[in-house]
Amino acid sequence: MATYVQLNTTAKMPLVGLGTWKSPAGQVKAAVMAAIDAGYRHFDCAYAYLNESEIGEGIQQKIKEGVVKREDLFVVSKLWCTFHEKPLVKGACQKSLAKLKLDYLDLYLIHWPFGYKIESHPYLTQEKLIKYCQSKGLAVTAYCPLGSPDRPWAKPGDPSLLDDPKIKEIAAKHDKTPAQVLLRFQIQRNVIAIPKSVTPERIVENFQVFDFELTKEEMATILTFNRNWRICEMNVSKNLKEYPFHAEY
Ligand code: NDP
Repeated sequence: MATYVQLNTTAKMPLVGLGTWKSPAGQVKAAVMAAIDAGYRHFDCAYAYLNESEIGEGIQQKIKEGVVKREDLFVVSKLWCTFHEKPLVKGACQKSLAKLKLDYLDLYLIHWPFGYKIESHPYLTQEKLIKYCQSKGLAVTAYCPLGSPDRPWAKPGDPSLLDDPKIKEIAAKHDKTPAQVLLRFQIQRNVIAIPKSVTPERIVENFQVFDFELTKEEMATILTFNRNWRICEMNVSKNLKEYPFHAEY
């Protein structure tokens, strides 16, 4: 299978990218370098993650070492909510570029625009939305693809995808880990996944998802795990009329 999704612009967006939300300063530079060594070429960054400077250092070091060229990479950043007003956009973008030590981004997303609904994992499979986007030629990225176990608001008793016995069972059949099954589930339906890790072994593990295939039945079984469990609910905006997660879609 292809390892990327081709966008309308003809740019190729790698199906697996490194997530960097919550990746602490002091660890994220090494994580980025380990990811490049493991074959990652897509990095999901944002001004609001407060670590773009270190990410830039990791990228620059690997370019200096001759491991990759800038044009081999697909770097994403995001315009934080306080800069959504038109006159503020350019400066915010330039700030991210300066921190990342880059002169262009491959994708600049609006962070938390209202209408933005795409978080995905087996407990929020988003079948209808993904089908619709793909039918219109829109590429979809699944954030929190592992269920975001390090989310700051995790509570005891919350569902845990990585510990789900049925995911574990499928993983064992393929001699793979639960994380690899969760990621393969997305890329096999042409959805880009951006697992975050600062652990070198996991960074490698999360990229080893192109060498096995889930059966049609397994894909269908995983889709039945949906329970509309949303991790990033944006609770602070629940009372706004533009709040995007009430509607059925
Ligand atoms: P993920 O679903 O990627 O889970 C990350 C957690 O899983 C970390 O605790 C990590 O630990 C752990 N982990 C990673 N790999 C493995 C593995 N193989 N086995 C077991 N545990 C593992 O959650 P995120 O919420 O970070 O989502 C991914 C990325 O999506 C974000 O980092 C960000 O880039 C993006 N995102 C974008 C949003 C947006 O609004 N645009 C919102 C939310 C996320 P450790 O690091 O310690 O290894």
